[in-house]
This record gives sequence, structure tokens and C-alpha cells, in this order.
Amino acid sequence: MPLTITSEREHQLMPQPAHDTSIRSAVSGLPVAFAGVEAAAVRLAGRVVRTPLVASPSLTKHVGQPVHLKLETRQPVGAFKLRGAMNALLALDEAARRRGLVTASTGNHGRAVAYAARQAGVPATVCMSALVPANKVEAVRALGAEVRIVGCSQDDAQAEVERLVSERGLTAIPPFDHPEVIAGQGTIGRELLEDLPDLALILVPLSGGGLAGGIALAVKTLRPDIRVVGVSMQRGAAMAASIAAGRPVDVVEEETLADSLGGGIGLANRFTFPLCRALLDEVVLVTEDEIAAGIRHAAVEQVETVEGAGAVGIAALLAGKVRPAGPTALIVSGGNIDPAAHRRIVNGESA
Ligand SMILES: *Cc1c(COP(=O)(O)O)cnc(C)c1O
Repeated sequence: MPLTITSEREHQLMPQPAHDTSIRSAVSGLPVAFAGVEAAAVRLAGRVVRTPLVASPSLTKHVGQPVHLKLETRQPVGAFKLRGAMNALLALDEAARRRGLVTASTGNHGRAVAYAARQAGVPATVCMSALVPANKVEAVRALGAEVRIVGCSQDDAQAEVERLVSERGLTAIPPFDHPEVIAGQGTIGRELLEDLPDLALILVPLSGGGLAGGIALAVKTLRPDIRVVGVSMQRGAAMAASIAAGRPVDVVEEETLADSLGGGIGLANRFTFPLCRALLDEVVLVTEDEIAAGIRHAAVEQVETVEGAGAVGIAALLAGKVRPAGPTALIVSGGNIDPAAHRRIVNGESA
């Protein structure tokens, strides 16, 4: 796959003094430091795509404020997860890298770990249950990772990850609750401020909270006045339920067009829950019809193939669930959607 890489800009963004002291103390009391985002930006320069921030004339007209889209669909694996996976890999010492990486994710995180490992010449293993469809198995194999088929559930696959960690010394790279993963995703926040210094609002797809937590950490450190809003699907919004409960809680997992947002935040969550609880100004939820409208809008108005998870920010604006008061950026987090499902949605048939 051809890889176009633009290097990180040279100039440094300096943290501004926070006029809102509650936010400043929130940032300083957190389990992940902004310095990690700065270190990630240096490590990732030239290794992941510095994605474009493009204007959306249609959404700008719809909300009456300038709206821009940060196209993480342009990463080589089609989603931002490459940033966190690559940063976590590069933070390991040489001996740990040689032993290799392991994960149980079959989605965008699994692909990102496989891709990052191949780029860095490090072995990677992806554990999957026998129920994972053949096309997903092939997609990971095609990225050069070893696939281990074990058991009949995601829990069986995760148990195999833990066995490989303890018996062979492989390093597990979790999809979100890990400081270097969060810091890698946070580099998006830095790039946004470089490209659009007068930003007032950022809408971020929210599941486990690595993306939203990382971006909020960077943005609230540098520019605490910018609103950062998480967007989840109504069906199974684990972080929203956890913030409301004041502790990590499980939710029933339901099928959704935003399949990359499915799953819980982990009852033993250590990093993303405190970050999201302290730093997100709000979490809004969108329906399946609104997500479909977001996917359609991206295809028709922007000629961009966006998966459900990547379209929730567009969905929230179209539905009037968030009303921008100034220049706005939406994180279009990924584009990995089954082409037949995408066609049905764009044609207005039910998914
Ligand atoms: C993983 C993922 C998300 C959510 O990221 P979290 O860090 O789990 O909140 C959003 N969009 C896409 C495309 C993803 O793959």
C-alpha cells in the first residue's frame, strides 16, 4: 500500500496559562501527562500520516459557523488507531520489541497493531476466536501479523493474549486504556490547534475514550477555552453511562452502525475514564438513523467513505444535537465499512 507521509511541523505549541483554574487543576491531577503527547508527536513524525483538515461547505452552511473535518480516514489502516499503536510500540525498549506485540482486537486496533509492527520490523500476533469472519482474518494476515485462532469467544481470544504475555513475554497493546496509546491519539489535538488556532469546538467519536481522552488532554492543556464534546451512539454508550454513574459500568452491547464504538470501557479502567470525566465538556448520543444520515452526508457532500463511528460528529451537527458558537472541527475517525453496507446506507435503504 503506498504511504504518503507529511512530516510534523517544526514549531512548538506552548501551553497557554489557563484562565479557568478548575480546568488547569483537572489537567494537572490526571493519570496521563501532556508531556506524553509532546513525546508522541516527536516519535510519530514521519511514521503516521499528518492528516488533512478540510473545510465542509455543506456543514458550514447547515450550522452557520465554519466546520472542518479532520480526516483520519487517510491513515494507512483507514483509522486513527495507528497513532496510538505506533506510539506504544516505539515507547518499548529494544528487547521488548524483539519479543513482539499481541492483541485480540479484530477491528481497527488489530489492524493498526499489525501495520505498526510490520513498519517497525517487529513481530505481531493477533488472537481471534473461531467465529471471526474469514475476511477479517485475511485482512490481519495480509498486514503480516500471525493470526492465532483460539476458542469460540472474544474472552477466549483475550485469555490467549494473557497467556502469551506471561509465557512468552509478548507485549499486549490495549486499544485505549494505556498512557502511550492515549498520548498517540492526543497528537490529533495538537495538529488541530496548529491548523486552526481559532477553534471553538471539537466533536470526537467516543467509545473506550482513548481518542477523546487524548485529544482533550492536549487541547485543554494548550487552550482550555475550547469545548471538547464526545459523541457516542445511543445503543450501548459505555463511557456516557460510566460518567453518569461516577465509576466504570458495563452496558448491554447492541448492534449498531457505529460498530467501532461498541464494547465497554473496562470495569478496571485506569486512564481513560478519569480523563474523559474530568475533561469532556459534554457527551451527546446519536441514533442509528442519525448515524446513517451522517454516513450519507459524508459520501454525497464530501465524497468521503466514512464508517458509522467516524460519522457520529456529522450526525450530531445535522441533528442539531450540538450547536457550535464558533469554528468547529469534527474528528472523522475511520473509513472501514463494508462496501455493500455503505452502498445501501448511501442509497437510503435500511442498513
Ligand atoms: C476505536 C475507534 C473509535 C473510538 O475510539 P476510543 O479510543 O475507543 O474512544 C472511534 N472511531 C473509530 C473509527 C475507531 O476505530
